[in-house]
Amino acid sequence: MNYIPSKREPYNGSGSYKKVQGGCAKGKVKELKSGKVIVGANSFNKSKIPSRFDFLTLSLSVTLPHMTTATKLLAWYRRFGRDLAWRKTRDPYHVLVSEIMLQQTQVDRVKGFYTAWLKQFPNWKSLAKATNEEVIRAWAGLGYNRRALMLRDAARSVVKHELPTTVETWLQIKGIGPYTAAAISAFAQKKRVMPIDTNIRRVLGRLLLGNTFPQPSDDERIQKIVNDFLPRRGNYYDVPQAIFDLATDICQKSPKCATCPLRRDCPVSKKFLSGKVVIPKQMVKKAIESRHLEKPYPDRIYRGRILKAVRESTQGINPQMLGNAIDKTFDPIVDTEWIEAMLSRLTKDQLIEKRGSKLFLKR
Ligand code: SF4
Repeated sequence: MNYIPSKREPYNGSGSYKKVQGGCAKGKVKELKSGKVIVGANSFNKSKIPSRFDFLTLSLSVTLPHMTTATKLLAWYRRFGRDLAWRKTRDPYHVLVSEIMLQQTQVDRVKGFYTAWLKQFPNWKSLAKATNEEVIRAWAGLGYNRRALMLRDAARSVVKHELPTTVETWLQIKGIGPYTAAAISAFAQKKRVMPIDTNIRRVLGRLLLGNTFPQPSDDERIQKIVNDFLPRRGNYYDVPQAIFDLATDICQKSPKCATCPLRRDCPVSKKFLSGKVVIPKQMVKKAIESRHLEKPYPDRIYRGRILKAVRESTQGINPQMLGNAIDKTFDPIVDTEWIEAMLSRLTKDQLIEKRGSKLFLKR
């Protein structure tokens, strides 16, 4: 939990700096080993300049006026940010792999897959050469398999053309949307841009718009003012990562404002702390997924099961065998059309193919 990309001003997590020790430079703030901070002599009226002894015993709380909300956030992040492998690299390929894996998959699950993927496909070139079958096998267990093919196709595009260097040029790669384009630009290329996903929308919508439960329709307003929020120098590119962690640990759907390092700057903290805010059951309308009315899960789950059955059958699998393999309640009379529709979708997505009478992973 202690990722420290660079040492800057220490922060005690309470919105203010505290404290006391002798020997600090004039007008400077000095960090104690304990993480506490002292303020130098010219911060005081000369007639009241404390002695060295005073420095050792006096305890005071000083809020540094230059600390913007983003600076406080970064200070908190340096102390409490998650230690994640993809945060230790500026390699655009590694960052893209992590971003695509993190779409729809939890951080803890992605960790192992990220390392294994980079071992098998260490760079753009090695991935560009991979077949559909190879990437589908390497992606096994992550779900939403089309992401694997999209990643491979992005690698082919980079190898064939050149590495994009702006949000606009990343957007020209098929499958890369505004969020991912901004994320790679910030994390790999240190651009001063803000990717907006659900987590970032929730935190920035609250902080910058004073909206307790921001919606996707607020993104445009957030983008318009986020430029003033981001620091102009230093690790401004870490701000989105810091927001992810704040959103995960503190500024959740039901936020823990009492422990938030930004509570003094946040226009909705008092509202939440009053306990009078009603937490909606659903923040954002869920995308409508196709599903069989008689089955407990959306079709996406069954498509995943079909792909798994095909992947694990070294000699290919007969389509008639799939029904019972993916669904215990499968009824060939009423469910055959349903299976065929899913097979057709998997074929269209280039994940499987029919050779003879059997199904295989797409070569
Ligand atoms: S004070 Fe509360 S609402 Fe505001 S950013 Fe912090 S956790 Fe979120």
